[in-house]
Amino acid sequence: MKIVLATGNKGKVREIREYCQEYEVVPYTELIEAFEIVEDAATFQENAIIKAKAVYDALGREDVVVLADDSGISVDALGGEPGIYSARYAGKDASDGENLQKLVDELKKKALEGSKAHYTAAMAIVSRHGIQTVHGWMYGDVVTTPRGLNGFGYDPIFIPEGFDKTLGELRSDVKKELSHRSKALYLAKIVISNLPKR
Ligand code: IMP
Repeated sequence: MKIVLATGNKGKVREIREYCQEYEVVPYTELIEAFEIVEDAATFQENAIIKAKAVYDALGREDVVVLADDSGISVDALGGEPGIYSARYAGKDASDGENLQKLVDELKKKALEGSKAHYTAAMAIVSRHGIQTVHGWMYGDVVTTPRGLNGFGYDPIFIPEGFDKTLGELRSDVKKELSHRSKALYLAKIVISNLPKR
């Protein structure tokens, strides 16, 4: 079965492909031209549904399952920011590096060197059978000194609970064991494998 991802984010596509090797996983941008999807809801879950439905409707075919991931990092000392705004924390078209730097700056403004934080991944699965959603979380700390080049986004400043290295330093197979995305994908695969065959 073909799973179409409602994202072009290379980091997400790589991680989802790695976790779903038994499926053919294709970013929607390989099937149709990329288009803007306005993610204006108040929760990760609702934004994931907006993305998955938009892509499912645009594809106009019933033989696919569309999977959308809406994710982000919530920092305790910043009152849960950036949360659903993680991809645009430093502005609409900000790069991963600019968003990470803004988070570091906000902590430094409060004279902090770190904070408890967690990642959330909400996934929406849209098929001809309807809409289903699942979630996964990863808890840990953020620090103000980025370390390592692995992963993407905020990974160079995130230390998962029980570790002393950032996700930028840890190997990708370690992140795969722990991550919010892996936990959500574990559940998403159960949902997908239980979809009616006809
Ligand atoms: P979305 O594409 O609107 O879901 O935004 C997700 C944003 O959250 C990304 O651009 C990253 O900034 C951040 N993010 C989500 N998951 C991860 C992760 O696994 N590592 C690092 N940053 C992440």
